[in-house]
This record gives sequence, C-alpha cells and structure tokens, in this order.
Amino acid sequence: MAGSRKAAATLPTIPVGPGEDPWTNEELDEVRTELEDEVGRLQKKVAQAEAELRELLTEGADVAGRDPADIGSTNFERDQGVSLAASARELLDQSVQALRLFDDGQYGVCEICGGPIGKGRLQAFPRATMCVACKQKSERR
Ligand SMILES: [Zn+2]
Repeated sequence: MAGSRKAAATLPTIPVGPGEDPWTNEELDEVRTELEDEVGRLQKKVAQAEAELRELLTEGADVAGRDPADIGSTNFERDQGVSLAASARELLDQSVQALRLFDDGQYGVCEICGGPIGKGRLQAFPRATMCVACKQKSERR
C-alpha cells in the first residue's frame, strides 16, 4: 500500500509529532511556499540592512572635528546596524537551510536529536530545524 502511494508522490515524507496527522500534499506545498516567501523577504531585508550599515560605516569613518556626543550616537547606530544585519542574515541562512532540507527530503527532522520537529511547530515556524525540547536546551546555554 505504501509502495504504490510513494510512486505517485514527488513530495518528501516528513515526520510528524506524536498524535499529529500525516502531512497532506497541500500542507507540504503551503509550508514550502511559506519558506520560499520567507527567503525572498529576508534576502531583501539583508540587502537593505547591509546597505544601511555601509552608509553608517562611511559616516562613522569621517569623525574628524566632530562633536564627541555625535560620534557616540553614530557608534551606537552602527552597532545596532551590525546586529540588525547579522540577525537578518542568520534568519535567512536558517530559511535557506530549511528549504534545502525540504528538497533533500530531510525536512522536519530535528538536527540535534533526529526526532520529529512536529507538524504544528513547522506550520508556525517553517524554518525550524530543531524540535522544541532541543531548541529550549540550546537557548539555555
Ligand atoms: Zn530534538
């Protein structure tokens, strides 16, 4: 039975958490589309954050004869710009990675413990690559 169904389906089999229904093709499509959208959104965000950062760095380089308070606020803006660009880049990397896993048929498997991430969690956070338990452990570190 499983064999005949597999031949027709091109979409990967993604594990679900305990008590969850198996993924339907529509749900898989949705989560993949969501990931693609996310990658597109984040690419724009990263490009924007990096462009702003370059601007700040250019401004920051020209500090001769400027008010120290002014330089201080430029440094603050630059630090904020650095962390904004870095966090956007990190989210983008996660989304790209999740999309790659999806296409490799490895999506939905926790990268730490190898258990199912769970359908509900992936529908809420399509770029999740860890199950809730492992995610919480990694954040506590
Ligand atoms: Zn895990």
